[in-house]
Amino acid sequence: MGRDSKILKVELQSLGVKIEAVEKGRKGGAGPAAGRTLIFGGLKANVPTLSRFVESSPYSITPADDRYILKKDGKPIMEVSFPAPKFYGFKTKDGIPYWKIALLHGDDCLATTVVQRCVYWNTRARCKFCGIELSLQHGMTIERKTAAQILEVALAAKDDGVKHVTLTIGTVPGPDKGIRALAEVGKVLREEAGLPVHVQFEPPRRLELLDELYGCADTVGAHIESFDATTLREIAPCKAAIGFERYRETWRRCVSLFGENQVSSFLIVGVGESDASVIKGSEELATLGVYPFVVPLRPIPGTLLEDAIPPPPSRMLRIYEAVADILKDYGLSWRRCKAGCVRCGACSAIGDFERA
Ligand code: SF4
Repeated sequence: MGRDSKILKVELQSLGVKIEAVEKGRKGGAGPAAGRTLIFGGLKANVPTLSRFVESSPYSITPADDRYILKKDGKPIMEVSFPAPKFYGFKTKDGIPYWKIALLHGDDCLATTVVQRCVYWNTRARCKFCGIELSLQHGMTIERKTAAQILEVALAAKDDGVKHVTLTIGTVPGPDKGIRALAEVGKVLREEAGLPVHVQFEPPRRLELLDELYGCADTVGAHIESFDATTLREIAPCKAAIGFERYRETWRRCVSLFGENQVSSFLIVGVGESDASVIKGSEELATLGVYPFVVPLRPIPGTLLEDAIPPPPSRMLRIYEAVADILKDYGLSWRRCKAGCVRCGACSAIGDFERA
């Protein structure tokens, strides 16, 4: 992978790409909704395709015979491809299309939202960037996936080249916040599909609940999203209410359970914070052995931030370079991560900027 490809990934994730005569991606959901994964130049990138700001992007993709050509200002740059999962063509024993149960993320990660509802969705505490219940409203998924359904899809996806799994969840009522549902599915996938599993959750009320994930997951994510207290209150009031200290305790306990480099936190760039906040926050995470998964804001149509604009590529480049220095200093790398977003890397270019 050359520097040009990395820079192109950063540009595409900040500016988006207009695509013609190709399915543009899912309209909502957790994670990289309103986008498509592109493969080019030895890397993968989940790129916005449906958000409003994409209309002004200089980038476009047009089909040519059975190939896809990426263009900038109408001039061809290179051929790109889209992963084509064969397992999307099947249905579960109870008649649900596999793609409503779990999706291919990046080029080798199976991802699903075990419970597609969140206690904060209809409240003022909801995260403004999140589209978790939108895909449910659009009929693109089902509300709750059972371990048996996810296992059935995972076995087919493994035959199709999937190497790891990401399980996320909306915050569910009760003190474990969904951790027990994740543990149940993760255990089945690890033991019966033999796939490494990543789980993502909100810090539980009692830290001991985290111990129940041991043996049920290989890596975990608890996402603070922003280290800027004012920004966090504005974009994710539910997380601000939990407080930084609870996140720190959660990360520490998770590192003691799963090891350095196997715990991560998303840090969103472009929601009101300074560069210094992202870089200092990344260093704080790294000192704990937590991988800072830095991503540009993804303004998903239908969310409270649908009219926002992602940070410019120049800013993302500056931040990626600085965070890559930190990763090197603390010996953290996507290569050492067993499963999940850090391993996948489609939504962030931070792994592509890691120093050798
Ligand atoms: S980085 Fe995470 S959210 Fe993004 S495509 Fe990969 S597994 Fe999905």
